[in-house]
Amino acid sequence: MPTTLTASGLAGFRDRFSGQLIGPDDPDYDRARIVWNAMADRRPAVVARCEGVDDVVAAVRFAREQDLVVAVRGGGHSVAGFSTCDAGIVIDLSRMRGVSVDPGGRIARVDGGAHLSQLDQSAQAHGLVCPVGVVGHTGVAGLTLGGGMGRLQRKFGLTIDNLLSVDLVTADGSQMRAGADENPDLFWGIRGAGANFGVVTSFEFRLHALDPTITVGWIALPIERSREVAAFVREFSAGASDDVRLAISFGIATDPPFSAEHVGKHVVFVGATHTGSAEDAARDLRPLREEMNPLVDTIAPQSYLAVQGQQDESMAWGKRFYMKSGFVDELGGDCIEACAALASDVPAGGECSITFWEQGGAFGRVPEDAMAFTGRAAHWWVGFEAMWEGHPLDESHKAWARNAIASVKPFTSMGQYVNDAVESDVGSVRAIYGDAKYERLVELKRSYDPDNVFRLNQNIRP
Ligand SMILES: Cc1cc2nc3c(=O)[nH]c(=O)nc-3n(C[C@H](O)[C@H](O)[C@H](O)COP(=O)(O)OP(=O)(O)OC[C@H]3O[C@@H](n4cnc5c(N)ncnc54)[C@H](O)[C@@H]3O)c2cc1C
Repeated sequence: MPTTLTASGLAGFRDRFSGQLIGPDDPDYDRARIVWNAMADRRPAVVARCEGVDDVVAAVRFAREQDLVVAVRGGGHSVAGFSTCDAGIVIDLSRMRGVSVDPGGRIARVDGGAHLSQLDQSAQAHGLVCPVGVVGHTGVAGLTLGGGMGRLQRKFGLTIDNLLSVDLVTADGSQMRAGADENPDLFWGIRGAGANFGVVTSFEFRLHALDPTITVGWIALPIERSREVAAFVREFSAGASDDVRLAISFGIATDPPFSAEHVGKHVVFVGATHTGSAEDAARDLRPLREEMNPLVDTIAPQSYLAVQGQQDESMAWGKRFYMKSGFVDELGGDCIEACAALASDVPAGGECSITFWEQGGAFGRVPEDAMAFTGRAAHWWVGFEAMWEGHPLDESHKAWARNAIASVKPFTSMGQYVNDAVESDVGSVRAIYGDAKYERLVELKRSYDPDNVFRLNQNIRP
């Protein structure tokens, strides 16, 4: 594999490519090659910033001619660092960020390089929404192709549950559409294993009405009450409507909003999102807010768009990141106590977090075999995330996350969210989907990408 492309190798490509080609000698190279996770520090032979579909076709064909490793970059947030590579080509869609909304038909068309914030803002301009993730600078593409979890998932399902069709450029450089009525077999695989089959240049999503103000916040309790919190939440969520979505996390009380006597102590947070009216939210969340007697309660009406941007800064580009995750059928007392212990014993120097997100509702009602995504039966997802700066902290933070997932292994169920998986081998990819879905995906891969051109992903080997 060449580490740099020769001028003659690039010349023919340049004639067919209207975007920007950036190589190691280019002043923009170091900016162009980086991705969100600073752990993925790679040196591609060329970054091809595409202006449109024709450029994507040209880039795929050029990669095939030159036998180059192909990385596809939407928003660049792959936690495993899949959207860059050494010595190959990065097909970079960062100039393809258009979003158009048809308010009457309640449909959004989104280009392959758009960010979640662009989809959120364009849809909310018409009082509409597509359920997506919780950090605005994440790419729509990678998020959707793996599933798309977020704060609206109990009300409107995953992002893929609202995906109507995709346009993609396949491994031989041809263009295709996949949707319920066109190439439905491929559409099944796209929704959960989508990075394996081509470069998606455009997505079509169903939108829903959502008021610009929703009710969001959290209550906090001493961490010693974690087991009691789990018992309360189990009962509360069993009777809750799809408007309500809970999350549980752990942290250290800071001033404000905690009073001086609690500052510095470990706490458990129960986060709540309510998508109904303020009156419905007040009624539905009252037991949670009143019966638990929390130390702090921040639950209040807030702008949906503001909430969606709240983590943009804390999750900004440039840090090192590692995570482990799993699905948990039910929030048992032993499981939450194990997590409380892990949250109280984190390595120095970085930031470690443990978060449970509630599933069920519209998310849980989609049949498990409807698409490649696996994990709908579980009531909770749990993620152990570590973020830090500098190589010397790598091992301690990775070890914390590995130890954490091992500690909750007895409580986890089948599958793993593909977008969280950092390591990748045949066994671990099979475990993401389960045997039956994995075999079906292998068949699809043999039809649509038999040479495994698109292999920088949780790879289905043909
Ligand atoms: C800060 C942060 C917050 C996150 N929050 C959430 C969340 O709330 N909910 C959630 O579900 N997930 C979340 N994730 C995980 C996220 O869904 C994945 O990291 C996702 O892959 C990011 O998509 P991207 O386009 O930014 O990534 P990229 O790194 O560009 O791509 C990720 C993968 O998708 C492939 N790919 C990208 N674009 C295309 C395309 N157009 N066609 C074909 N393949 C493509 C790449 O080859 C790569 O394998 C978060 C991740 C981060 C880093």
